[in-house]
Amino acid sequence: MIQGSTELVAIVGSPIAQVKSPENFNRWFADHQQNVAMLAIDLAPSALQNFIQTLRGWQNLRGCVVTVPYKQLLASRLDSISERSAALRSVNVIRREADGRLVGDIVDGEGFLSAARKHDFNAQDKQAMVIGTGGVGSAIAWSLCQAGVSHLAISDLSQQRVEMLGELLRGAFPKVVISANPASLEPFDLVVNASPVGMGAAPDDKAMPLPLALMQTLQTRTLVADVVTSPAVTSFLAFAQRLGCPIQTGPEMALAQLGNLGHFMGVTPLQI
Ligand code: NAD
Repeated sequence: MIQGSTELVAIVGSPIAQVKSPENFNRWFADHQQNVAMLAIDLAPSALQNFIQTLRGWQNLRGCVVTVPYKQLLASRLDSISERSAALRSVNVIRREADGRLVGDIVDGEGFLSAARKHDFNAQDKQAMVIGTGGVGSAIAWSLCQAGVSHLAISDLSQQRVEMLGELLRGAFPKVVISANPASLEPFDLVVNASPVGMGAAPDDKAMPLPLALMQTLQTRTLVADVVTSPAVTSFLAFAQRLGCPIQTGPEMALAQLGNLGHFMGVTPLQI
């Protein structure tokens, strides 16, 4: 029950009905007897500037999770943002400081890594491949480099995006070897699909983000991950599982990220 004394967090996007964060956060707040609640806000683009001013003045609001289409639009309008948000020009969470200042970060990559740690994946000196260099893929690539991979390969349908992200990562992480479009998956300890391929696919849809011949070069020691949340086990993951690879699903990343989002807003511990 929301009371007058309840502290609030929000999630903003448009559309918003499909997001799972409110039920996940509110269940956690209830289970842990926290007088905090999350509201879902479907915001019209024309209201964005007023919304930011409202956030600054909203004294019982601790923070706000940001989803499509506002991740980039909000990154340039906050009072301060993390180094990775500045580099990637994107935020997925805002903390409201007690004086009303709004501070942003992007924790998709950290959420991904938290989930991967549960599969005993430690990025230090490992070789990883990220398919898809959009918002989520770039954030995962950044976090993998920050966590110490020795080699990161990236791929995308858009060669321009691959080149832009490659340049950004080489500038920020000069010790990491950044390559593109590998001919074999054999060297990799981790291969992650961060493209939307497979999202909402029917059971008979076998769409994959990589050609089959390349998929067949996967080794059984490789952790194969997907960010797609529905279905949980995509064709990509099912293929890897049949080969004998350990897999990590999109819902695992989403769940792990709750702690990163909640901790940044100051309403949960990092590990929940
Ligand atoms: P985006 O549109 O910013 O980027 C997607 C990228 O994938 C684009 O660069 C596109 O060119 C590329 N792409 C598309 N098809 C490809 C293919 N066949 N091969 C290689 N690259 C391809 O999208 P986004 O915001 O990064 O979201 C990506 C996915 O992540 C969505 O399905 C979204 O639902 C999911 N997501 C999951 C979580 C989670 O916690 N699990 C969190 C956020 C988003």
